[in-house]
Amino acid sequence: MTTSLELLAPFSGPAIALDRVPDPVFAGLMMGDGLAVEPLSSTLLAPCGGTVAQLARTGHALTLLADNGAEVLIHIGIDTVKLDGRGFLPLVGVGERVSAGQPLIEVDLDAVARGALSLQTMVVIANSEQFDFPLRAEGLLEAGRTRFLTVAARGAVSPRESAGGPECRGESTVLHEGGLHARPSALVQQAAKAFAAETFIEFNGKQANARSVVAMLGLGVAENDAVAVIARGADAAAALAAVQAALSTRSAAGHAPAAAAVAKVAGRIAGVAAAPGITVGQAVRLDAFDMPLPERGDGEEAERAKLGEALQSARRQIQQGIDAALRRGATAESDIFAAHLSLLDDPELLAAAALDIAGGASAGLAFRRAVRAQCEVLAGLGNAILAERVADLKDIERQLLAALYGEPEEGPELFEASILVAEDLAPSALTRLPRAKIAGIVTAAGGASGHVAILARALGIPALVACGADALTLAHGQTLVLDAGAGLANPQPNAAELAAARAEIERLAARLRAMQASANAPAITLDGAAIEVAVNVANADDAREGVAHGADAVGLLRTEFLFIDRREAPTEAEQTEAYQSVLDALDGRHAIIRTLDVGGDKDVPYLQLPPEPNPALGLRGIRTGFAYPDMLDAQLRALLMVKPLSRLRILVPMIADAGELIRLRGRIDELAAEMGVSERPQLGVMVEVPSAALLADQLARHADFLSVGSNDLTQYTLAMDRCNATLAARIDSLHPGLLRLIAIAADGAAKHGKWLGVCGAMASDPLAVPVLLGLGVTELSVSPRLVPEVKSLVRSLSLRQCREEAARLLALDSAQAVRGRVKELWPFV
Ligand code: PEP
Ligand code: MG
Repeated sequence: MTTSLELLAPFSGPAIALDRVPDPVFAGLMMGDGLAVEPLSSTLLAPCGGTVAQLARTGHALTLLADNGAEVLIHIGIDTVKLDGRGFLPLVGVGERVSAGQPLIEVDLDAVARGALSLQTMVVIANSEQFDFPLRAEGLLEAGRTRFLTVAARGAVSPRESAGGPECRGESTVLHEGGLHARPSALVQQAAKAFAAETFIEFNGKQANARSVVAMLGLGVAENDAVAVIARGADAAAALAAVQAALSTRSAAGHAPAAAAVAKVAGRIAGVAAAPGITVGQAVRLDAFDMPLPERGDGEEAERAKLGEALQSARRQIQQGIDAALRRGATAESDIFAAHLSLLDDPELLAAAALDIAGGASAGLAFRRAVRAQCEVLAGLGNAILAERVADLKDIERQLLAALYGEPEEGPELFEASILVAEDLAPSALTRLPRAKIAGIVTAAGGASGHVAILARALGIPALVACGADALTLAHGQTLVLDAGAGLANPQPNAAELAAARAEIERLAARLRAMQASANAPAITLDGAAIEVAVNVANADDAREGVAHGADAVGLLRTEFLFIDRREAPTEAEQTEAYQSVLDALDGRHAIIRTLDVGGDKDVPYLQLPPEPNPALGLRGIRTGFAYPDMLDAQLRALLMVKPLSRLRILVPMIADAGELIRLRGRIDELAAEMGVSERPQLGVMVEVPSAALLADQLARHADFLSVGSNDLTQYTLAMDRCNATLAARIDSLHPGLLRLIAIAADGAAKHGKWLGVCGAMASDPLAVPVLLGLGVTELSVSPRLVPEVKSLVRSLSLRQCREEAARLLALDSAQAVRGRVKELWPFV
């Protein structure tokens, strides 16, 4: 082992003695001895070779474990943790081996400088008491070239004591539906990673590092199992509490109600219904074959480097998939691939691979062996949900090997209606193939709660899983009838059976068409009340899609989509054109266009919003508009240019009281007067802050209409962050607390003869529709494809019954109770 180590400058810029940095913790050497630099370059380079031992969730700091045992902590800027990741793009992951000079973190110096006290970057040796520092650089440094710090070990180096530090122990009952499977483990891992302490989960005599999803999967923890939690390190108590909370906060597995395999029927393939539907198609065999891999590598250093690069590229690709899914609103898909990202970064998998590489194996073979060993553990646990994660592990193996050696094969030959047949299917295989050609799925392995099943349900693809070896008797190109809902596939349909299946498919399609055909007609309840069913859109294409599905209007255009993903704000002319194109797509219908709603979870980089400790409670919605008056004026002017203004309704987000509304109306009047515009568009307020619901009668005096933003109103009423995945299962808009606020808002609106709509996701929840109607809501704005269904639902309801029952629902004590009662009252919903 090398005992003396030369660190190279991590950034270009002047060197600064540590005692001169404006942070008493670093200046007082409490984090260890070392040297700082004032960065003039924007890429943090590794000062030495080593393994990434820690990477802050916020990307502003990392620790490298150098080959001589030095723990090299690099902290970019002062107080930069507050930026919550803004301005930092990590290029490496925990467990990755890096070489000296390798780019580690890309830094947006301007953004960080604006939000932080200082950019000065500290490089300290956390276990510095075991080292001497014979050389410390002075003057101007060149990144990756100038010698920065010499770190010479005084003797044999032992790990820092704090790693063993204070120890806290506790117990937790795992409440996640299905136990500690991949997505809950990823949540636990996220919680553990935020702390310096090492946290372990102990179950059945086995221990797993809480930073390792793979290790946690290997424990085989089922729902309601009690586990021990042990945290060690300076912040052990906080880490323990966070991990316990993550373990015991229930999340839904997203699987279908336990679908049993149907009994064998002669001449049929029987399995578990993972996603319902009937289809006729041709089998496409997706046989897993193991790509041949080189046994031996080109030496440890080279293979480690290859693995590091491949990890980075696979990570990028998965992240792109997550981003694309999020843009489409496909949350089931984005959640699944986020879990894959955690698996890819798993320290246990990477450590096993690194060990194999050190023994001479090639990077690919080492990674495959590490994955396969874990697959065996999971398959042997006797827990169906965990066994179904084998497909996820093999999926990341495939993606990593593709990144290492290129895609092994051409895509499969697809037919117009392809039924994918495989031992098990990789989730990414489903999203890589063209959706239009995938008619169904039949797999030998898998289960109703596997990620392929979740995706199939989200994509509406009939899927039959866990069919056993029978599935693999299907030949490529063979025609079959798949009745996934019935749990059966007919591999050799005769002419009559084919005709019967096609007739059933046609009958179901006709039902859909009937809904679609009547979608253009108004939605009128059984007792004659007209409910407007509008659509939420981001652009003119969505608006056209909404019209094609029978939407009565646009109920919400979120204008933020025009402002994000770009370097500067759109011009007034650009905005007018975008708003006009939405109105033009509507064939005479009206459009509600919301003024810019940014801040909180919606970031617009060029606005340089200051970092906030509680963004959801800070500058967002109309508050941001008032803080950036030029931008607000530009948007209002652009809206006033739209023709005809009689079809435009302006909606204001995050209004807390009438004063803000009066101020905005005044500004619209001033701008219209300056522009010589005499007509005024209607002006409405979003009810998404509890105070707006409580003061709805005051708001309704000054507004033309009110629209409930149920996503935010739920977040603020229940005090549960809408972006917090661990709370996702509990953020339910049917909570009686929220229903009471909506009832108050409806009464307030009615007092002044104004209407109340709902444009949050609640309006798209069929169980919420009778409740909202009963509370006095007369407009529902939903996603375009749901318009026919929501209209058909409204037509099956009696407003009188909805009103009577809604009053009683307000007295229930939980969202579950409300859901249960609604299902009893309106079983057809
Ligand atoms: C809401 O909060 O319900 C809403 C419609 O606004 P957004 O989801 O854009 O915050
Ligand atoms: Mg909102």
